[in-house]
Amino acid sequence: MSKHIFVTGGVSSSLGKGIFAASIAKLLQGRGYKVTIQKFDPYINVDPGTLNPYEHGECFVTDDGAETDLDLGHYERFLNIRTSQANNVTTGRIYQTVINKEREGAYLGKTVQVIPHITDEIKRRMLLLGESGEYDIVITELGGTVGDIESLPYIEAVRQLKWELGKDNALVCHLTLIPFLSAAGELKTKPTQHSVKELSRNGVQPDILICRTEHKLDDDIRSKLARFCNVDLECVLEAIDAPSIYHVPMLMEAENADVTILKKLALPYEGKSNFDNWKAFVHKLNNPVKKIEIGLIGKYVELQDAYISINEAFKHAGVVFSCKVEIIPIHSESLNTTNLDEKLGKLNGIVVAPGFGDRGIEGKIEAIRYARLNKIPFFGICLGMQCAVIEFARNVLSLKDAHSLEMDPSTTNPVIHLMASQKEVSKKGGTMRLGQYSCDLAKDSLAYKLYQADQIKDRHRHRYEFNNDYLESFENAGMLATGKNVENNLVEIIEVKDHPFFIGVQFHPEYSSTVAKPHPLFKGFVEAAIAMKEQ
Ligand code: GLN
Repeated sequence: MSKHIFVTGGVSSSLGKGIFAASIAKLLQGRGYKVTIQKFDPYINVDPGTLNPYEHGECFVTDDGAETDLDLGHYERFLNIRTSQANNVTTGRIYQTVINKEREGAYLGKTVQVIPHITDEIKRRMLLLGESGEYDIVITELGGTVGDIESLPYIEAVRQLKWELGKDNALVCHLTLIPFLSAAGELKTKPTQHSVKELSRNGVQPDILICRTEHKLDDDIRSKLARFCNVDLECVLEAIDAPSIYHVPMLMEAENADVTILKKLALPYEGKSNFDNWKAFVHKLNNPVKKIEIGLIGKYVELQDAYISINEAFKHAGVVFSCKVEIIPIHSESLNTTNLDEKLGKLNGIVVAPGFGDRGIEGKIEAIRYARLNKIPFFGICLGMQCAVIEFARNVLSLKDAHSLEMDPSTTNPVIHLMASQKEVSKKGGTMRLGQYSCDLAKDSLAYKLYQADQIKDRHRHRYEFNNDYLESFENAGMLATGKNVENNLVEIIEVKDHPFFIGVQFHPEYSSTVAKPHPLFKGFVEAAIAMKEQ
């Protein structure tokens, strides 16, 4: 039977529950335990696929095509595991299941209520991954903050499970904030006391407190927290601000988090966690010997979390070359034909980001033209690839009104058009081409050189695709389709000949880059950008 760790948050949102969960999972993995993490989100959307990045940051996609919370990206990147639909559950999905069952007559004669029906469904889902027998430990992160109305059924489910699973099989970690009042020159414990009280009022006593802080916690503060929050002294863990998310497993190790957790779960804890490769990665991340500047062109660049997987994939790839990859966010709406030199001239590489809708599209197309003509390494991801196709059609094939049907439904040259499988689709949720598909690579291509494989698999999330009616003209003019999904006859990768590095991919390689396994396309692009800089 799997043991369960529940992670709740108090005082404030954005304290980094996902990073904490991934970090302790890393420590436990380093001791040989098989660990997975799941996230329960209290909002009513069935999944975050219909949320725009302003609402909830990036939407992460799993191999099995689930549109999920971005924390699943952290779990995969930290643990080098694959997650699935089962790792992310929302209130919407819980209610949908219960309501469907009610309609089928599963509760015939009964009043269907939050307790027990909703909480039972939450509990069933919380236990699901653990029942596969694949994991020693399942970590469940609860989205939201204790005290939120919508979190209550989840807290109640945790309360019941803690009781049902028994003392050695389940524990609750509560992540909280210890603010520093500069006027008083003091760290304050009161918000944490209140948050623990709120949790206890709902019947859940946390076992371990993880205290986010800007300053070190001294012994007095630690013992005060232990005494007033009713936890053992060794269960008060400091989580001081870290230079990067990748430092957090080491901070947690220094706080003995793994030992404390394993003791509570009655699991062997002798020796130390071995995650030396991770430490070597962090050492290289801290000590780069060179630096490149990559322009990331998108329309959500002002949001830290909108392109989080792309940013992290660049860190993984940069470390391979001991190179700091400085991402220069460039709003696609700020680009026009008059300022390209000023905005793009100094860059060592240009990435055009994924996206939906026509806002900022012309800026993206201009940036690609600039990269193509000035031989700057270019990497287009999903919409970025589609824009590269449009740019080539307009400026090389002279199809002046070439466009994607998504942006211009009346264009006479729809070089990007709606996939056949999407034509009948009218519902928005979970209806795109989602998840992993295979792609055959052309032997003498850049893609083949980077992947070193005949066939690869990467994850998709889009409705539109390359229009094969134009393929021959493109190939004759020097833009080649070097990756194809043979089953569905879809172009997945395009490259431009006679260019140091020009590649566009219809899929999202950023989703599958991890610390242990940086993605080959990101590595290749970084290498090309370094070469460009050193030229
Ligand atoms: N909007 C484009 C499509 O739906 C690209 C999607 C994306 O970049 N993820 O095909």
